[in-house]
Amino acid sequence: MQTDVIIIGQGICGTFLSRELERAGLSCIVIDEERSLTASRAAAGLINPVTGRRLVKTWMIDELMGVAREAYGQLGEDHGMSFLRPAGVVDFFPTPQMRLAFLRRYEEDPAYLRLPEDEGDWRDRLCYDFGYGVIEPCYLVEMQGLLAAERRRMVEGGRLRAERFELQELALEGARVRYRDIEGRWVIFCDGVESMHNAYFSRLPFAPNKGEALIVEVAGLMVQGAAVQGAAVFKKGISLVPWKEGLYWVGSSYEWSFADAGPTAVFRERTEGILKEWLRMPFRVVEHLAAVRPATLERRPFVGFHPMYPAVGILNGMGTKGCSLAPYFARQLVRRMVDGTDIQADADILRFRKVLGRG
Ligand SMILES: Cc1cc2nc3c(=O)[nH]c(=O)nc-3n(C[C@H](O)[C@H](O)[C@H](O)COP(=O)(O)OP(=O)(O)OC[C@H]3O[C@@H](n4cnc5c(N)ncnc54)[C@H](O)[C@@H]3O)c2cc1C
Repeated sequence: MQTDVIIIGQGICGTFLSRELERAGLSCIVIDEERSLTASRAAAGLINPVTGRRLVKTWMIDELMGVAREAYGQLGEDHGMSFLRPAGVVDFFPTPQMRLAFLRRYEEDPAYLRLPEDEGDWRDRLCYDFGYGVIEPCYLVEMQGLLAAERRRMVEGGRLRAERFELQELALEGARVRYRDIEGRWVIFCDGVESMHNAYFSRLPFAPNKGEALIVEVAGLMVQGAAVQGAAVFKKGISLVPWKEGLYWVGSSYEWSFADAGPTAVFRERTEGILKEWLRMPFRVVEHLAAVRPATLERRPFVGFHPMYPAVGILNGMGTKGCSLAPYFARQLVRRMVDGTDIQADADILRFRKVLGRG
């Protein structure tokens, strides 16, 4: 079977890569072993323009949001559904110092920040002492629904192989690649943290980071149109993010050192304890998620083609921001394939030319 591109992995990276290839008129086969939990399936789906204790604007956020609105919008139209909705983060200050930090940032540069008219308007539902600020516009991506819908479309189009990819069966034959019965011009790895164990890319400075989250049912917290534009995400150390009907995603942890990728009792107990102190209403845990983020040491993605094997590419290293980075860099990677346009230097894996080139 002939194709232009063999894609390994159907997380958010493989999904947007296949869509961009289709838009450019290139064919692909996606190989994805169905796993119950992957980074993309565990993600809250939040695109937040301002993060961290210092509330700095995240890298390239204005451009990333523009592409995200368009790419998710188009994807939704293809399925007659909407996978992207506007949201605002209600950022409760855990300490008076954090309140001051927000006010200072707001004075310096109010982009994406807002001060509420009435800081008491969540007091009947949540416990907080130092007020809050609002971060908006943000966006929420319905990741699980989107991945499932695109997977169905790939199956219908005969473009998905639901099986495990075995690297030892990949052969590079001149300028072409062969995997079992599939022959193509390129193979592109979108396999998340698995790329760390792949002979072509194991030398890239990955820094895998584990995250856990609970899915909880909370009656009476969801109020549309109150205080923020769109869906309200609540943050106070941890985040409460609207999930499916009547449910919230609650998390997350960020662990650099972990024994395995599974859910832990420690996380669940700690998070339930925080919720008991924060929420004024009862809640019920319905699911516990855990996955490893394909993060990188210098917090920039890995995009492009291997300097020694130009038919072998990668779209990976999205860390904590796959929802906004994947559509943008899938587009750059495909432009590079179609008309040779350079991938931006701080994302292109050619910045690791020396380590990748060592035999
Ligand atoms: C708890 C948590 C919360 C997060 N929240 C957010 C958030 O709110 N916003 C945000 O932007 N980002 C968030 N992230 C980060 C985001 O999830 C990642 O950046 C993104 O999902 C990475 O996508 P990916 O496609 O690179 O990898 P993955 O989602 O890991 O996808 C890789 C795919 O490859 C497949 N695969 C791997 N190896 C093989 C093989 N040998 N054969 C066949 N198939 C294979 C896997 O089955 C999987 O489907 C969160 C992550 C976690 C863990």
